[in-house]
Amino acid sequence: MSLSQRDQEHNWHPYTQHKTSLPAVAIVKGEGALLWDEDGKEYIDAIASWWVNPFGHSNRYLADAIYKQLTTLEHVLFGGFTHEPAVVLSEKLMRILPSNQAKLFYSDNGSTAVEVAIKVALQFHYNQGLPKTKILAFENAFHGDTFAAMAASGISFFTEAFQGSLLEVVRVPLPTNGNETEAYALFEKQVQTGEFAAFIFEPLVQGAAGMLMYEATVLDRYLSLCKQHQLLTIADEVMTGFGKTGRNFACDYLTQQPDMLCLSKALTGGTIPMAITSFTQEIFEAFYSEDTNKALFHGHTFTANPTGCAAAIASLELLESAAMQEQIQAIHAQHLLFQTKLSTHPRVKTIRVLGVIFALEIQTKSDQAYYGQLRNNLYAYFLENGVVLRPVGSTIYILPPYIITPEQLQKIYQVIENALVEVQE
Ligand SMILES: *Cc1c(COP(=O)(O)O)cnc(C)c1O
Repeated sequence: MSLSQRDQEHNWHPYTQHKTSLPAVAIVKGEGALLWDEDGKEYIDAIASWWVNPFGHSNRYLADAIYKQLTTLEHVLFGGFTHEPAVVLSEKLMRILPSNQAKLFYSDNGSTAVEVAIKVALQFHYNQGLPKTKILAFENAFHGDTFAAMAASGISFFTEAFQGSLLEVVRVPLPTNGNETEAYALFEKQVQTGEFAAFIFEPLVQGAAGMLMYEATVLDRYLSLCKQHQLLTIADEVMTGFGKTGRNFACDYLTQQPDMLCLSKALTGGTIPMAITSFTQEIFEAFYSEDTNKALFHGHTFTANPTGCAAAIASLELLESAAMQEQIQAIHAQHLLFQTKLSTHPRVKTIRVLGVIFALEIQTKSDQAYYGQLRNNLYAYFLENGVVLRPVGSTIYILPPYIITPEQLQKIYQVIENALVEVQE
């Protein structure tokens, strides 16, 4: 029996309706931007395995750092203990995070990074005797699948079954497509109620919504309004962090600074699950007290796992290298050329580019569901042609590992161009 067949016996896959889905492709090896399945078929990983893997699969530099850490100190509890990898990683991150950030809280995945941010926002107000229980968020946002993160997310079929059990979240439209004035007015009206503990957003790009983009100057206006009203702001950089937008963080395009940032995905270069929520000193101080009950009683067993921290330190070294920064700019330049090439294509509705992110919306005759027929046809076509892409509704996006070669990138473009001719709704 193949791995793919054996897999079906016991494995329950994420975001998968097993009755109607194709069996999972069994991958046996990865190197750079390439993956190979159990039949020896080669694929280009055009989405960096869900946006986690900027430096390529089976990266030796990361593997060596991890091995060294595993044979020095693989894990130690972080309650009452600390270790060099966590200290060094925190120092390193502080040098590149927005200058108002001061304290880091470690966890395991993007959802928990958001969960921590939301809990901190609620307790921040509670500790000061002014409890506020509502969260403000954008429509179509995705912040993760744990309860608070899910409540803040706006993609309804992800969250429908749990509506009665969720935190109260008010959603406002994303300021884009010329609706900026209207959207801002709706946002302002909500902020002025004074009922919100925090405003959470994906800065500049809503990833899971299909790489929807909006302007830094617009977001700056939102953040300065929040500041005026003492409304805490949470930048969910789980997707955008570590170079995806062309800068280290999407927030680097802003003049305003968020109170909290959520980081995960590319943090360890796609090797070890880890996440961080970062905070201003002011937030930390709302928990700093003689009163034990004012502490943040949250933690995870593998918090600040030394091996994960070592992987993150090595990842940051790779990210900061001149070669990697050049790669990011080179991918961006190639995306812009491809955008120009397809700009008048009859099946292209719109193309968005930011940093290494390229998103193409197909002109469709009918509304396309998130996991609809067009999406399924495209997904199967790309796989057949040796490219891993996961379209969202009618949007095809590329988010390649930074180490991708120009030839590999051209092949992705070519397959997308062919799909525009060959794949129907
Ligand atoms: C992926 C993602 C999350 C959730 O991260 P997980 O590691 O999957 O829990 C949260 N926010 C954003 C913006 C994401 O892209």
